[in-house]
Parts: sequence; structure tokens; C-alpha cells
Amino acid sequence: MSKVKYIFVTGGVTSSLGKGIISASLGKLLQARGYSVTIQKFDPYINIDPGTLNPYEHGECYVTDDGAETDLDLGHYERFLGIPTSQDNNVTTGRIYYNVIQKEREGEFLGKTVQVVPHITDEIKNNIYKLGETGKFDIVITELGGCVGDIESLPFIEAVRQARLELGPTNCISIHLTLVPYLKTAGELKTKPTQHSVKELLEAGIQPDILVCRSEYSLSTEIRKKLALFCNVPFNSVIESLDAETIYDVPILMRKEKLDERVLAKFKQSYKREPKIDAWKEFLGRLKNPTSQVRIGLVGKYVELKDAYKSIAEAFVHAGAVNECNVMLEWIHAEEVEEGNTKKLFGELDAILVAPGFGERGIEGKIATVKYARENKVPFFGICLGMQVAVIEFARNVLTLKKANSTEMDPKTKHPVIDIMEDQKNIKEMGGTMRLGAYDCNIKKGTKAYNVYGHAKISERHRHRYEFNNEYLEQYQNAGMIASGTNPDTGLVEIMEIQDHPWFVGSQYHPELKSTVVNPHPLFVKFVKAAINYRREKESN
Ligand code: GLN
Repeated sequence: MSKVKYIFVTGGVTSSLGKGIISASLGKLLQARGYSVTIQKFDPYINIDPGTLNPYEHGECYVTDDGAETDLDLGHYERFLGIPTSQDNNVTTGRIYYNVIQKEREGEFLGKTVQVVPHITDEIKNNIYKLGETGKFDIVITELGGCVGDIESLPFIEAVRQARLELGPTNCISIHLTLVPYLKTAGELKTKPTQHSVKELLEAGIQPDILVCRSEYSLSTEIRKKLALFCNVPFNSVIESLDAETIYDVPILMRKEKLDERVLAKFKQSYKREPKIDAWKEFLGRLKNPTSQVRIGLVGKYVELKDAYKSIAEAFVHAGAVNECNVMLEWIHAEEVEEGNTKKLFGELDAILVAPGFGERGIEGKIATVKYARENKVPFFGICLGMQVAVIEFARNVLTLKKANSTEMDPKTKHPVIDIMEDQKNIKEMGGTMRLGAYDCNIKKGTKAYNVYGHAKISERHRHRYEFNNEYLEQYQNAGMIASGTNPDTGLVEIMEIQDHPWFVGSQYHPELKSTVVNPHPLFVKFVKAAINYRREKESN
């Protein structure tokens, strides 16, 4: 393609319609036709990034290779497209204003009054075009967070209006995702909310090219005609999006509705080829036809909100499919666990994962969880804080350093087996200051970790301030807990594992962030396998 094509995805009527999944599914189909695609998300809130947001507010904070703390939709983009995103793929109102104010301080506006139009909208457009200008993509999909009509969304909608003019109709299209609700008492689907939402967009100067309609029931020809007529879109550009059994069905459903064909027709592109989605379909086949089943406990402190562990849950879906195994996650609140109830809570489980997290709440419950898994030889996986608590538990109960702790929980602990990183000690600002993003790790041969990855050099993503304290390493290794992965430049411990245990691994990094449909993460794949084996053995005894 000579020129980059832009697709804008807006949402109307209500939030939570799944713009992220629709964007990722469309991206997947276009990619499967041979185009190189990236997806970007604009978030209309004032925070510079979601890094400082409580998981209860915003769900998981997704970290990219370049160390950006981003919206969890970027996780969907990566899981669907299988290519990394970066800071440029997630921009908030806060970041836009921050950039503009910085430019103002540097005198870049030459004495002019700085205004929402044109300065803020120009900055938004710069961030749209920036991805196109990398030369890496044929198509850039930009998802606008929030709903049309929100006060916060206005500058973004205005920027899209301007971009449409600048780019011209064959280089740029607008997709509006809306809700067509079913009214039980009337016994019919209602188009009015969609009509209103499109009107709102029209008032802002944008005529959507395609409507994607979320609905519980199939849209009849009559309803489609009505939507087309009142919303001023061609009949074949009214796309239905029914509730799906899994988010991974959505690309297939969008293919059936010909969303990708409508988009390419608007761009006046002849189809490069039919979409190649065999690997995707094979994944779905395995996902939906499991031959075994395991129950895995996920112990964390934000379990009320499943979105707080989105990437972990999805990594289990990918790993389950590879193993043709139905992975049932049991969400367990860390604060509920005590040494006295571990048998009751975990006795029926086939494996246990202790989740990442921050702060003291629930920490003793997590330590009791690790003790149970270690002593009863239940497959165990600890991620980030989960690895750190595994280290603390081992210190207290095997090395008999009774007061061992992380300085995050007890700054004055006698045995700081987990300690703040040297270069973190003087940091005062909260946002974007952790050890973030991709770092290399070397894996020792002959370890569980080596067996998992099958090679020695890996790179994984991080988000933490504390780390294993190497002053204790010898004691640990002598007692059977070894550092099987370390950073080649700094010597920081990346993976700890217990040798005399069927599967006990803790990673300082977040492997869940790199698991995709086509490339499930080997740590999750092997962990699920260990759970299957554990269950089989239990059943045969
Ligand atoms: N709170 C721990 C740290 O900052 C672990 C962070 C995490 O689990 N992501 O090191």
C-alpha cells in the first residue's frame, strides 16, 4: 500500500461494549490478509498513564517492551496480533496536555494563546500520524476510549474530524460501535439509542462509515435496513456483533459479517488475499474440545475484579488450549488464607499461582499459600510479588530466618531477603519510575526454567521496585532454592526455583504479558502440564 490507511473506532450508547476486542479482531483479519497493522488506544482521562491507578479503578496495568505502563486493551492487541506495542500505542488526555504545556514552556508557540483547538487537537493528530510515519504499518487502527458525548472525549472526536479531512475519504474510515438493546416487554430490538448516538457523532462532524452493533439477538434484514436509513450508512455496512462464547471467536464472527471486506472496499483496496486464519481456527478447535481438566488456584489481593489479572487469565486460556485442557481458575483472596485453612482451601486444587501485587495487605496469606504448595509438592508458580513471597517463605521456614521479609512490607526487617533496588532508593515520583519493560535474562542449563524455555537467552517484561537480595543467595542455593535465571548485566535474580519439587518456579518478571494466541507462553504451557500430571497422579493413587 502506498499510503498508510487510518481506521477510527468510536463507541456509543454505553461503555463496555468491547471496542478493544472489535479493534483487535478487525486488526487480526486485516493482518491475516497480508497487511501490517497496529492498534492504538486513546484514553480520555487526565492521568499521564494508568501506572498510578489502583487496579480496582482500572484493571491491570499492561507493560510494553519499551517500559510504558498502559491500558489493558493493549494486551488484547498484542494477544490477537502477536506483535509488540509501545508507548505510542497508548495516549491519554493527561499526556497530550503534558506535551502541549511543555512545548508552551519551551516557547514553541511563539507567543500565541494556547487553545484546545488547534493546539490540543494538533497534538492528538500528531500522535495518530506518528505511528503511520514509522513506515512499519499499512494500517493504523485508533480506538477512542469512552463514549461519544462524554465531555472528556470532545477534543479527540474533533481531532478525528480534522484528520478525516486531511487524509481524505479513501485513506480514513470511521467505525462506530453501538448497542442495539432487546426490550423484553416489546419483544423487539430497538434502534433508537444507536440513532441518537450517531446523531451525536454527526453533530461533531463525523459521519460513521460502518456501524458495528452489539446485540443479544441477530439483527433482521428489517432492523438492518432501518439502521442504514436512519444512520445514513450503506445496508452492507451495518455489522452485527453478537455475544460470543469467547473473545477469540470475535475475529471469526467479524469475518462472517465481512467487516474486513467492508473496510477494504472503503479504502478502495483490492483484496491482497483471503485471510489466513488456520492457526487461529486450530487454536479455537483445541480450546473448545478439551480432553482434560484442571483446577488452578489464583491467590491475589484484587480477585474481586477479574480485570486486575487479565493477562494472567488469558495466558491460561492460551496454555489450556495447547494442552487441550480446560483450565478452571479458582480465585482466592489472599486475605482469607491462613496456615489453619490451607488444606481446606487448596486440598482439591491441581496447582497454585500467587499473583503480582503491591503493599502489605494479604501478604501473610500469600506466604501461607507458598508453604502449603512447597510442603505438599503442589505445582507452584509465583509471579513478581508471588516470586518474592516464595523467597520470604523459604527464608522463614527452611533457612529459619524467622523475621525475614521484604523491605516493602517491613523496612526495618532483620533479614531483608527482598530489598529495594539500589537505583530506586532516591526516587520520589510515583509514575513511570519502577524497573519497567524488557530486560534480558540468562538461564542456567539443567534447571526447570531451561527445560521450560529450551534455550538460555530470554527477554521478559518487568514492573517492580524490589528484588532478591543477592547477599543471601548462597544460603538459598545450599538449601535447594536456586537462581536459575539472572540478568546478564546486573546480576539481578530473575527466576528462583526449588530443585526438590515437581514444579516450583517464581519469576521476577511478568511472563503473562507476552503470551499470545499463536505463541502461548512456555511457562504457562508447562505449568498447566504440571497441573495435569499432578491431577493424573492424584487420581491413580
Ligand atoms: N511490590 C513488588 C515490587 O515492587 C512486586 C511488584 C509486582 O508484583 N508487580 O517489587
